[in-house]
Amino acid sequence: MTYTVVLIPGDGIGPEVAHAACAILAAASAPIEWVEKKAGIAALEAGEKELLPPSTVDAIRTHRVALKGPCTTPVGGGFSSVNVALRKTLDLYGAVRPVRSLAGVKTRFDSVDIVVVRENTEGLYAGIENEITHGVVTSMKVATRDACLRIADFAFRYVVHRNRRKVSVFHKANIMKLSDGLFIRCAREVRDAKFPQIEYEELIIDAACMKLVQDPTRFDVLLMENLYGDVLSDLCAGLVGGLGVVPGANLGEHAAVFEAVHGSAPDIAGKGIANPLAITMSAVMMLNYLSEMHSDAALAQTATRIRQAYDRALVDGCKTRDLGGTLSTAEFTAAVISRL
Ligand code: ATP
Repeated sequence: MTYTVVLIPGDGIGPEVAHAACAILAAASAPIEWVEKKAGIAALEAGEKELLPPSTVDAIRTHRVALKGPCTTPVGGGFSSVNVALRKTLDLYGAVRPVRSLAGVKTRFDSVDIVVVRENTEGLYAGIENEITHGVVTSMKVATRDACLRIADFAFRYVVHRNRRKVSVFHKANIMKLSDGLFIRCAREVRDAKFPQIEYEELIIDAACMKLVQDPTRFDVLLMENLYGDVLSDLCAGLVGGLGVVPGANLGEHAAVFEAVHGSAPDIAGKGIANPLAITMSAVMMLNYLSEMHSDAALAQTATRIRQAYDRALVDGCKTRDLGGTLSTAEFTAAVISRL
């Protein structure tokens, strides 16, 4: 069976790393047929009128699965985030970001195994802001009971499905009593009603950050609202070697978009030195997702072969610069392919 998947290379380092991941999947004979679509700056440069062209959204709706490179969001002005728009338009409400130590990447801790589950559609990260009068702006943090219940249920189902042990909710409900208060009440409600056997804790996010950097091994699955999930994903990436090694999936009822946690890294774009591992790991998550959806054991084996190949490459010392190595994107890609 061949699977049609939408490929959005993105911009900045996006096209470099996305095409590297495609090359690795092709070399592993993964049965994927790509439909390439544009979003963000790349869409505008291609003459599209919108940052998120309807043809891109339609393609994902049709094929239901996409692999996406990062799309730049300008800081402090300019257009709003394409990434946020895509998640909201397709209602990709749950982000899953596995953060694991890799044998070949030496960091302060060597047995980190955390999954960040992030609510993807609400909170301050939705970017609903107003300048109510000159020099006064408001930023609205939205929390709805439906979305809070839905992401809590998603996190607990993930724990059961993946044989994990614990959910830790990070929040600031001592200050944001209504919004974060609703978030933790919903998490508790879901846990008590449907998952009482799962270990559960609530931590105020500032203290939780301290505990995370002191001993990440005490954590398992982290559940949090959108902005906290954005920040904590990068913090957790730092525990295992950086943004070059953390993949992600944005999941909804009708579509799934796989993308690395990192952004478009304009500082290194076009230099051929970006680490393609995070998006390759996201592609491996995508293969596993497809294999589960279609009960395709061969596809799961292909995913495992790719994972073993990059694991071995790292152990053999093949690394890009962000991991302390010297390899270019192309050289690291070749190193993985030669170990398939
Ligand atoms: P965004 O807000 O769009 O997610 P960000 O603020 O997280 O972006 P990134 O674009 O992810 O920022 O880059 C942060 C730093 O990490 C930069 O110095 C960048 O070069 C580095 N970086 C990110 N991704 C990679 C990668 N794949 N390979 C090497 N370095 C990377």
